[in-house]
Formats: sequence, C-alpha cells, structure tokens
Amino acid sequence: MNYQPNAHRYEGMKYNRCGKSGLKLPAISLGLWHNFGDGFVFNNCREMVQRAFDLGITHFDVANNYGWPGGSSEETLGKILKLDFSSHRDEVIVSTKAGWDMWPGPYGDEGSKKYLVASLDQSLKRLGLDYVDIYYHHRPDPNTPIEETMGALDLLVRQGKALYVGISSYDEAESKAAIDVLRKLGTPCLIHQPSYSMLDRTVEAGLLDLLAEEGIGSIAFFPLAQGLLTNKYLSGIPSDSRAGSGIRFLKPEHITDDVLSKTRRLNDIAAARGQTLAQMAIAWVLRGNRVTSALVGASRVSQIEENVAALNNLNFTAEELAAIDAIL
Ligand code: NDP
Repeated sequence: MNYQPNAHRYEGMKYNRCGKSGLKLPAISLGLWHNFGDGFVFNNCREMVQRAFDLGITHFDVANNYGWPGGSSEETLGKILKLDFSSHRDEVIVSTKAGWDMWPGPYGDEGSKKYLVASLDQSLKRLGLDYVDIYYHHRPDPNTPIEETMGALDLLVRQGKALYVGISSYDEAESKAAIDVLRKLGTPCLIHQPSYSMLDRTVEAGLLDLLAEEGIGSIAFFPLAQGLLTNKYLSGIPSDSRAGSGIRFLKPEHITDDVLSKTRRLNDIAAARGQTLAQMAIAWVLRGNRVTSALVGASRVSQIEENVAALNNLNFTAEELAAIDAIL
C-alpha cells in the first residue's frame, strides 16, 4: 500500500539547529541499531519509520555494522526509503558510520582512509542512496593519525558522498584534535554522537562545554540506557525486551538492585511531572538546549509515540533537577 505521510508532520516536532551549522535536527531522532534488519519483522521496521516520519522525526541513524548480520539495518532502511520515501528524500536526514569491525582483514576496522572510503561506498549501495547526510567516524582510533581519518571524511564530502561529517564516542581531547583538523581542511565537524543519559553523565565533565565553545552540535545515544530508563524493567524482565532477548548488549545482570532502586525513584518523579520515565529521560537529556537531539531506539510504534510526547514537557524546575541529581 502506498504510504502517504501525515500532512501535519512538522507541527508537533521541535527542530534544533545543529551547532552553528545551517542544519536543523529533530529534538528526537530514531536510531536503527536494534530491532532492525534481518531477523526482525519487516513490516514492523517499516511502520516504525513511517510513524516516526509522521510525527516529525526526520532523522534516521544507522551504521555500517548495525543489524545481524552487520549491514542488514542499512539494507532494511534502504528498502523502506525506496518503497515509501522516494519522493521525500529531501525531507530526510540519513546518517551512517564506520569505525568498528565490519569485514575481515586489516581494512575493515578502525580509522584508516582505506576503510572509511570503502565502507561508505558499501553503505551507499545498501541504503540505495547517492549520498548520506551525515557520515561519522564511529569511534576514536589511537593508532591512525587523526589527519588521515579526518582527511578521509573531508575527501568523502568533497566527492559528494556525504554532506556533513561527525565523530562518535571521541573524548574531549580526541574531539578537540579532530575538530581542529577538520576545520583546517575546510570541512567543519557538524556533530558529535556521544553516549548520554541520566545513568551515564561522562560528557558533562567537559565534552559538552567543548562542543558549545566550538559551535558543534550533539546527538545523544543511549538516552534511555537501552531501556533501563523506562518503565520496562521496573517489575521484572519481559521476554520481548532487549534484556530478555539474549542479545549481548543489555544483559539481565545489568538490571541490578542499585539500578532498579534509582529507576523506581526516578519513575516517581516522572509521574509527578505527568510523564513516563522514558519521557522524562528524553526531556532530561534535552534540558537547557545543550544537546541538539536525543537519538532514541524503539522496538514498536507505541514506544515512538510515547517518546515523541516527551516534547510536551521539556522544562524542569530547580527542585526536580536537584531531586534527580540526588538519586543519581
Ligand atoms: P536507547 O537508550 O534509545 O534504548 C532504546 C530501547 O529502549 C528500545 O529498543 C526499547 O527496548 C526501549 N524503549 C524505547 N522507548 C521505550 C518506551 N517508551 N517504553 C519502554 N521501553 C522503551 O538506546 P539504543 O541502544 O536503542 O540506541 C539508540 C540509538 O543510538 C541506536 O539505534 C543507534 O542509532 C545509536 N547508537 C550509537 C552508538 C555509537 O557508538 N555511536 C552506540 C549505540 C547506539 P526494547 O527493544 O526492549 O523494547
């Protein structure tokens, strides 16, 4: 059936300027790492992307290695883009990345120019696109000169295969080095993609300040701590959850008494704000406009709907913030 996007899709979403660039990103973006690709019901993947777009989510994030096997998340997104978004390419921001192990041998991992250039060509084929909007180096590679890795990103922009570039999981010093090299090359760093949530506040130690000073945007991955910052695990581990599914990234042993004690108390604060815990966790990441977008994953349409409704209350009182800090 032909997909007809909601005509009012831009009315309920908030769009934030990405650093000092011309690009705006939705306050909530959809990540397609989990629940996407081979082994997942295609129609569910398709409905999630359609519903997200209907709610104003214009940004979809993948990486070369997403999906099981790696690459299948890009293939699934490519199929959906072709089926449903061929007339809407200019309304969508697609990002992908390379930096983790993707194919055997010395050229399918880390940060060489050889790897980054070859990988984007492969990603474009899987996505069925001529260019991606944002291409990231997925993680720092201390063994490759930063000039080479950033030079590869610059080259790909000049070749028209990526419009913007970013870095992910670089710490403050690594970020500064990458930002400086990119600036010298004439391809400014658009965005940083770090982990950030109420359960992982590492970026508050200096990275967010650096990005603000440099005029660079940020998009927070794991804003829900893979589901821990939702009501999902408050009274057990559902079999259809990430922790219950046997996938190695979130294991039952991560759901400790300490985590549950925190999330139950956070859940009470969220309820007092008229929000679910997931909604408060997203609003918290976006508080004070320091983060451009919260990059949220989902396994079903209802989660995307719930998460977008976080935008109904993005403000925190000083008392609420203090109460949250006291729990964390
Ligand atoms: P999130 O913190 O966004 O967790 C998403 C999970 O939380 C969902 O899969 C779902 O779990 C659960 N969830 C979401 N909404 C709700 C809700 N309203 N109620 C209850 N449960 C909910 O982390 P992700 O790991 O999904 O990461 C998000 C994105 O970040 C990735 O898709 C990817 O694009 C990016 N990322 C980037 C990395 C990097 O190195 N740059 C690393 C990891 C991720 P369930 O499946 O159990 O239903």
